[in-house]
Amino acid sequence: MILHSISTSQSLSHGSNMKPPTRDGPAINRLVDMIQREATDAGATVRRWEGGPDRGDVLLLTPPGQDPASSLLMHGHVDTVHAHGSLTGTLMPRVENGRLYGPGVYDMKGGVLMAFQEFKRGLAKPRDYPRALSLMIVPDEELGSLFSRAITEEIALAYKAALVFEPGAKNCGVISAHKGYGEYVVSTKGKSAHAGAWPHAGQSAVVELCRQILILEEITNDVIGVSSNVGLMSGGTFTNVIPEHAIARVDLRFADNEGWEHVKACVEGLAAVNPAVELKIELTVHQPPLTEQSTALMLSAVQQAGRQAGLKVHAESTGGSSDANMIAGVGVPVIDGMGPEGSGAHTPFEYIDIESYAIKANLLRTLLTGNFIN
Ligand SMILES: [Zn+2]
Repeated sequence: MILHSISTSQSLSHGSNMKPPTRDGPAINRLVDMIQREATDAGATVRRWEGGPDRGDVLLLTPPGQDPASSLLMHGHVDTVHAHGSLTGTLMPRVENGRLYGPGVYDMKGGVLMAFQEFKRGLAKPRDYPRALSLMIVPDEELGSLFSRAITEEIALAYKAALVFEPGAKNCGVISAHKGYGEYVVSTKGKSAHAGAWPHAGQSAVVELCRQILILEEITNDVIGVSSNVGLMSGGTFTNVIPEHAIARVDLRFADNEGWEHVKACVEGLAAVNPAVELKIELTVHQPPLTEQSTALMLSAVQQAGRQAGLKVHAESTGGSSDANMIAGVGVPVIDGMGPEGSGAHTPFEYIDIESYAIKANLLRTLLTGNFIN
């Protein structure tokens, strides 16, 4: 039955054949168009924000005349990390041993489909739902939601609470905490010189950057739950030139706001070891953590609904972050991991467990049609 709905849902089954990769706005928008059409046919009110050719658009679907203050916002992304052409080979859409394979089925079209089906049911049978439902779909989560973030934050702020449909944890698990995420660009500017003729006339930007990288890597501290990774670096032009420029990007993770203050102070407090080299530090991304405090209300509601449905729902935390972080960051109660279980996100072996789709869809229906969110 679930497989039937996955394969017959107009928008998303076509969508998984399109599997829009991040950065391809027109491909993402073909899927966004289909969802919009299906939602409009079902009677939804649609708002759409244009993201441009390398992103795709943001869509907000609501019932007509909705009051967000008493309603719930369901949230998901339709972009995937898979490139065009990945519909063949190991990701060829198929069912095998109770698993549905396909690019983006787990992260996170399975979850988006589940939310969309419930949204449409809410339109058709509003009396079954004590709180009206909206659905927001974003096109750029895999790129850090740079475009959609401000829209998500502004819209979420008006709602009672939110549910994010990223993949769920094994054995009926939802996600109650994500680390926060910060990214800095650290760059150095030295002085170039001919490496053979005047080796002492130059000031190496590469050497200075390497010193800084060693300091940055020392930030990792398991006791306070922070980590640092310099994932990218480059510098110099030719082997016979003392390098004038070098640049690195560092990824920082933290469990709570104190952790953020700590890593921020470490990075922003860096000083050049060689005073003749200029050091520049620039914050490019900051996503607040999703803390257990911000998910407590919704977790308790989901667990109560689970008991009613005969399911034992547990919560897990992950190191990765999602749009739930941003929603929590503006102070709106939220829960993540409402999507189906599976494995292989961002790999050529991505799948969802079909039975878990049925279980999670049942949990969602019980949650949204009961009086659990006060
Ligand atoms: Zn995702």
